[in-house]
Amino acid sequence: MAAPLRIICYHPDGVVADRAMARAMARIHQLNAIFNDYDPTSEVRRLCETAGTGKKVQVSDDLWRLLVFSLEISEQTAGAFDVTIGPIVRLWRRARMARELPPAWRFDQARQAVGYQFVRLYPEDRAVELLRPGMRLDFGAVAKGYAIDAALQVMREEGVCSALIDLGGDLGLGDPPPDRDHWNVAVAAIKPGESPSYFVRRARCGVATSGDRYRFVVIDGKRYSHIVDPRTGVGLTDQSEVTVVAPNATLADALATAVSVLRPEKGLAWVDTFPDTAALYLRLVGEHTEVYTSKRWKELTGGTGNAQP
Ligand code: ADP
Ligand code: MG
Repeated sequence: MAAPLRIICYHPDGVVADRAMARAMARIHQLNAIFNDYDPTSEVRRLCETAGTGKKVQVSDDLWRLLVFSLEISEQTAGAFDVTIGPIVRLWRRARMARELPPAWRFDQARQAVGYQFVRLYPEDRAVELLRPGMRLDFGAVAKGYAIDAALQVMREEGVCSALIDLGGDLGLGDPPPDRDHWNVAVAAIKPGESPSYFVRRARCGVATSGDRYRFVVIDGKRYSHIVDPRTGVGLTDQSEVTVVAPNATLADALATAVSVLRPEKGLAWVDTFPDTAALYLRLVGEHTEVYTSKRWKELTGGTGNAQP
């Protein structure tokens, strides 16, 4: 999780606060060692080495839990979100560095190894089998959210409940600061240089944003996002930014990515099926920002709509 980490917390005893933050950081490092896709020794990478060999592999609690959750989201979106997108994401990583599109045959080859249906779970042993050779699980769309929730949890265990964790722009909000009833989070405008006009005023929830603001590649004048539509294998080309508020950061993170792929019409209706969950979808079309919100966005974000703070 190569993302900047920021923790804000309140506690009358500085020693307790320091200890809680140290434990939160240690927990995030521990999860990084499980989910990091860039590290060949991570638990996920080692699991993927067994793809297509017929081996079933026992996995850690964290990997099991996040995999089961990710497969549920993959099913619910009929694969618009797909935790097995790894082989295609790797192609796009290379494309970003080389600034050219991979040849079509590489996409065809990668697509053979993508499909959440090819993950077999053995709940009684908490074991996983990857059925196709070359499969690569990719938790890039959910691991930050999961790490935030886990870190807030250990801080609570240390007695520090009033806390905010910001991992690369995805947030976990614990209890609000003393004498306040919410945290105030600004949603960055999609147009560069423009000041924010949307705010989330809430506590005890997750807030995640997905978009191509930082990670994209321009090839032949076309801008491709690091979020890929698994059905085509191509990085999204609509310049969008999706912010989701949900009861926890894991769900917010997953939905923000999924809604980016599903787009507003389908995505926001689906968001409405989750309790206490809402989303804001911004899309830059030329100079104009298109705005879409799910039914409960205004209600769940403190009734600000698009008003100023
Ligand atoms: P950010 O890292 O900017 O917060 P996201 O949470 O949206 O963004 O995660 C993007 C990452 O998710 C990509 O870098 C990739 O690893 C992974 N990914 C890309 N497309 C998909 C997809 N369709 N389904 C699941 N994961 C995806
Ligand atoms: Mg995400």
